[in-house]
Amino acid sequence: MRPLTIIGNWKMNGSLAANQQLIEELLSSKDFLANLQGVRTGLCVPYPYLSQVSQLLAKSSIACGAQDVSDHPNGAYTGDVSAKMLQDFACQYVIVGHSERRQFHQEGDGLVARKAKACLQANITPIICVGETEAEHDDGKTLTVVRRQLQAVLDLLQGQIASCVIAYEPVWAIGTGKVPTPAQAQDVHRELRLQLAKFDDEAASKVAILYGGSLKPDNAKDLLAMPDIDGGLVGGASLNAKDFLALCQAC
Ligand code: PGA
Repeated sequence: MRPLTIIGNWKMNGSLAANQQLIEELLSSKDFLANLQGVRTGLCVPYPYLSQVSQLLAKSSIACGAQDVSDHPNGAYTGDVSAKMLQDFACQYVIVGHSERRQFHQEGDGLVARKAKACLQANITPIICVGETEAEHDDGKTLTVVRRQLQAVLDLLQGQIASCVIAYEPVWAIGTGKVPTPAQAQDVHRELRLQLAKFDDEAASKVAILYGGSLKPDNAKDLLAMPDIDGGLVGGASLNAKDFLALCQAC
């Protein structure tokens, strides 16, 4: 049985004051904390707020995470942040290969796989995002695209895949309010798990495959009830305590 995993992705949002208020609201909700029993939860926040958020979450069961990492361990890479630096701030998760990184920073499958490897070397769980664009979806290429993205990771990580989390995020669903039906999302999750199983049967039964893209309190229950959907990567709804609470309650 895989534990449910709910990860908030704040993207480029937040301020010292707003973060403090949001986390205080989350931690003061008894219902929220009670619902977290047995659920792995984390918040992936912008780099400048890692220190603040990891301190605010230190005594809670919510983990702190980042949204990107360098594939290099150190050196002359101006503007980059290494996995080891993230480890200093008690980061347990790092999102790698989010479609916004692939789209706006031209990150390719190979780089995403190397970033995942850098996380594992620092004992951080990479949340590896895969997903097709709207044009690829309309062309019936969803499975071809996600298989290619996952294969690059499998080729590089070999036996370490059991320590990763995968997130299926259809690009056309991110921030748009459009969502695949639970059955459509389940089909893709199932295919990803079969691909993992071809590589490593035992790992495939353990790896959490999250759904992301306009996940909201009112659609979470049906999506997360699917057998191969093990939780969610939540953007917009993680920026508001009420929505994040309601979403966790829906699970
Ligand atoms: P969304 O974003 O929930 O706002 O659609 C999800 C994500 O990009 O991780």
